[in-house]
Amino acid sequence: MAPAVTRRSLLYAGATLALPRALRAQALFDTDVAIIGAGAAGLGAAQACARDGKRFVVLEARERIGGRVFTDASLGEPYDAGAFYIHWAERNPWRKIAADLGVALRDESSIPAGEWLSFENGARVERSGRRRQFAELSRRFDTDQSDVPDVSFAERVADAPDLLPGARGMARMAVGDEAERISALDYARLWSGDDLIAPDGYGALVQQFGARVPVNLNTQVTHIRWDGQGVVVESAAGSLTARAAIVTVPVGVLSRGAIRFTPDLPSVTREGLGGLAMGALTKIGLRFDGFRFGLPMNSNLWDDVAGAGGVNFECWPFDRNLIVAIFGGDFARDLLAHGKRAAVEFMLDRLSAMLGEDVRGAFVGASVNGWAADPFAMGCYSHALPGRADARAKLALPVADRIWFAGEATAAGDGDFGAAMTAGGAYLAGEAAARAVRI
Ligand SMILES: Cc1cc2nc3c(=O)[nH]c(=O)nc-3n(C[C@H](O)[C@H](O)[C@H](O)COP(=O)(O)OP(=O)(O)OC[C@H]3O[C@@H](n4cnc5c(N)ncnc54)[C@H](O)[C@@H]3O)c2cc1C
Repeated sequence: MAPAVTRRSLLYAGATLALPRALRAQALFDTDVAIIGAGAAGLGAAQACARDGKRFVVLEARERIGGRVFTDASLGEPYDAGAFYIHWAERNPWRKIAADLGVALRDESSIPAGEWLSFENGARVERSGRRRQFAELSRRFDTDQSDVPDVSFAERVADAPDLLPGARGMARMAVGDEAERISALDYARLWSGDDLIAPDGYGALVQQFGARVPVNLNTQVTHIRWDGQGVVVESAAGSLTARAAIVTVPVGVLSRGAIRFTPDLPSVTREGLGGLAMGALTKIGLRFDGFRFGLPMNSNLWDDVAGAGGVNFECWPFDRNLIVAIFGGDFARDLLAHGKRAAVEFMLDRLSAMLGEDVRGAFVGASVNGWAADPFAMGCYSHALPGRADARAKLALPVADRIWFAGEATAAGDGDFGAAMTAGGAYLAGEAAARAVRI
């Protein structure tokens, strides 16, 4: 069990990077900045506070840092249960952090590709015409944003019904949600660039970086008051006063009211929150005993499951004895609603249909990371609803110059929110919020 956090220890955790004692004594507040959440955004905010000589305290509900960047090692061989790609690496802060820490990154093209096999309900199918469809989907969705209306993914292909299945698949696997619920304009704004991979895990990289940041773990914030000067941040560990709060908890957590604000948040902030939803991209790690079913490492099996959606099975990543099942949308929500055990059984059935009955004999164990049901995530990452592409900008507006919402949902790059949804964007958002706090 983790040690109890007292108010004294909360203060102590921020003190290692504090202002000189004389200035501290004059301070009106326990600390300058209360940072809620120790994912990529919270760690970025802490690092920026430290650099600028601002006192800070980080409060994290989980027993670990990293949030949705998490390398799951519970099966004995690691895989990234959350973020995997270091997107648009040219400007992603995690690239420099990795270099500073001596963590090697790899270009995806340098990793030997295995086989790509398609199935429908377990039966092998050859896909024809896919290349043309992908090119057309890419033209409609990844194109210059000035050309994209603020309509749903589904509406974006309303004139070409043959593209709808592809648009649905893209919506579920890239955003984690259904094509009717995602703003095509919000998606088109996302940056593109080179994707890099941390072979030992993106989560492991974030852990290594965050190890030097003082964080109060197991400290769930329940209430933030901003009716006086500064803010009062309440958790089971006590209350803390600060000049400002940087709130990095996911929008799904905020939308369900897990943190109460007194007074209520301004209407513009609430409109911002109301215009954003969380996808349900989910990964299940399946460990095998070393039998590989004739598949080379880094093979992918894509199974279209009738009435549900597709599941991508990544086989033997980095030569590990793992198959990682990746799926999203309502299918993921429904499957996880039946429990983790049922979800694992479902995946073993799919694999048995594709690879044969040896699957169950070679199966060793599984771990399920159902982010949509995780109370501290409530989904994989945010997306704007159709017609609500302005939601991120609304949520990003500081509240009374003392509360900043910072995280993947508000990850603006040059004001265009192109860094949203990513761990790199989250870090940048946290860093920008910390810089904006005046003490
Ligand atoms: C399956 C999956 C695949 C992904 N793939 C990629 C990818 O390939 N590349 C990429 O860049 N991104 C990817 N992402 C998205 C990426 O993980 C997130 O965008 C990013 O990690 C968000 O960081 P954050 O700091 O904004 O939020 P989080 O990481 O969620 O951090 C917020 C923190 O707040 C804590 N918290 C919640 N409630 C409270 C509370 N009441 N009090 C205190 N603390 C609280 C949480 O425990 C958490 O640690 C993926 C995510 C998932 C789930």
